[in-house]
Amino acid sequence: MKYFIGNWKMFGIPKSINILNKINSYYLKDKNRKKYRVIITPPYTLLETYSKFFKKKRISIGSQNCYQKDKFSSDTSAISPYMIKKVGAEYTLVGHSDNRKEGDTDLMLKNKVTYALKNNLKVVFCIGENKIQKSKNKTLDVLKKQITKVLNKKLNKNNIIVAYEPIWSIGTGKIPTNKELEKITIHIKKILKGIFQNKSPAVLYGGSVDGNSIKNFKEIKEIDGFLIGGASKSSKKFIDIINNYYR
Ligand code: PEP
Repeated sequence: MKYFIGNWKMFGIPKSINILNKINSYYLKDKNRKKYRVIITPPYTLLETYSKFFKKKRISIGSQNCYQKDKFSSDTSAISPYMIKKVGAEYTLVGHSDNRKEGDTDLMLKNKVTYALKNNLKVVFCIGENKIQKSKNKTLDVLKKQITKVLNKKLNKNNIIVAYEPIWSIGTGKIPTNKELEKITIHIKKILKGIFQNKSPAVLYGGSVDGNSIKNFKEIKEIDGFLIGGASKSSKKFIDIINNYYR
């Protein structure tokens, strides 16, 4: 199964559901549809409406983050995994570099993953090195630490997806070479297999994926799907990615 996940970030109002309707119509007509799943992570404000609307349809809805506590607390503005699940969302991103930049620590991420899984959300755990780490050849070490500090064998691997998103690539148009990406994906899967009894969760790539760059990425068979930011806000651009992947 491949995954195409669209991360809307700070984008979207109720009527933006039109974008999802177009993607859903494409999906329903696509002869390749059994091979992949579409997940969209709109902002919290739209989670309930979109989750209800797409409940019986094929697009899955997820949140972009969740708080590191289980249910209710006195933390102003925080939204827990329990609250996300109760409005009908199925997935949550955890550890996106935007949130790591704002102070998410490994311990916080560990709690987020644990409570999200406890509340039956599927977790898309994001990892990735920054430009300086890459230039110092630290990528593989950084990724290993990010994974092993947060994931452990007690977690339900069937509800975890890992998204490799090099920070220097997000929103910049810069992408790793296929050779680099293949090596990194294999490295990530090896670490995950070490944690989860020789079975790796799906590993996705994210960073400047569009209708054009996907033509390169699709050559790398180890990659189980894509986390798409900018190009997910347009139905045409998002559909182009899927279309070019299977062409
Ligand atoms: C992201 O923010 O997760 C992302 C991958 O963004 P973009 O596709 O715009 O690089």
